[in-house]
Amino acid sequence: MVPKKGLLARLEEGPVICAEGYLFELERRGYVQAGAFIPRVVLEHPEAVAELHREHVRAGSDVVLAMTYYAHRIKLESAGLQGALEELNRRALQIARGVAAANDALWAGNICNTNFYVPDDPTNHSRVRGIFDEQAGWAADEGADYIVGETFYFLGEALLALEAVKAVALPAVITLAIHRDGLLRDGATPAEACRTLREAGADVVGLNCIRGPRSMLPLLPEIAAGVAPPLAALPVAYRTSDSQPTFQSLQDELGVLPPSLSSFPTALDPFTCTRYEMAAFAEQAAALGFGYLGVCCGGAPHHVRAMAEALGRKPPASEYSPDMSRHFALGDQDFVAPVNRDSHRWL
Ligand SMILES: [Zn+2]
Repeated sequence: MVPKKGLLARLEEGPVICAEGYLFELERRGYVQAGAFIPRVVLEHPEAVAELHREHVRAGSDVVLAMTYYAHRIKLESAGLQGALEELNRRALQIARGVAAANDALWAGNICNTNFYVPDDPTNHSRVRGIFDEQAGWAADEGADYIVGETFYFLGEALLALEAVKAVALPAVITLAIHRDGLLRDGATPAEACRTLREAGADVVGLNCIRGPRSMLPLLPEIAAGVAPPLAALPVAYRTSDSQPTFQSLQDELGVLPPSLSSFPTALDPFTCTRYEMAAFAEQAAALGFGYLGVCCGGAPHHVRAMAEALGRKPPASEYSPDMSRHFALGDQDFVAPVNRDSHRWL
């Protein structure tokens, strides 16, 4: 049997796609509660997690990312679920490993923002590091190909995550979440933070979450100019803009507002990107030298397929990619009934 190529070898051959955003998609499907966003679904409906993994791989994701986002000690303690911590993590890792093995995909462990980190507090830092250490340890123990540390809005926390991944001797993909002022919350620019992480040993550095294609893309050239590849860019699939650069700042003026009066996170549907917008982002980010691409919150398999195709791939789901020439009215083939032609006049 030919040994599986690892992440870094695959990145040398071309872009690697990683579909993220499981919590949002499984929330829409009725398996995750918005608010705390704790991934109890891993234990309660493991088949739903495996199915979404399979859909993403079929759509072109090269990686199955274990659903351990927000499965850390702080989150689980907040819901009295700390007794299930290790079981939930190991089960998520095993589900990812199983889907990857059946599809010749890579699979990765996942650690993330604790929402507990504070700068300049060594006691806090050793607690956060311990949280990362136990999750990274389980990922290594279950045989992950690498570990993603993601959605860090403090560089200091990202560095603690990186140390934990390095301690288990796995490749580290570390991605940062940039809020509306365009900086990490401990002051670094995205490019400075990526450079610091690279110098500290991160194998892949870049951005994920918070910003959609339109407000993430402008941050990429400065990172590409100052940091050697491989670089990562995984936007949310929402139409953020200059004036509303984060998905938390999007505000729907037309729809019925949710009780929280905020479109984020449960009324973002009208801002969802089309597959073509996500495909354009993949093409533009790849042209800037970003080789580790994907989707974060809001993303769905049709986005992943369009991005894969924009990068020259033909994943299994491309069998059903659109062919509007065969549409009953928009099509141009002989079977379009005369009464339905000239659709721009009546449709
Ligand atoms: Zn996200």
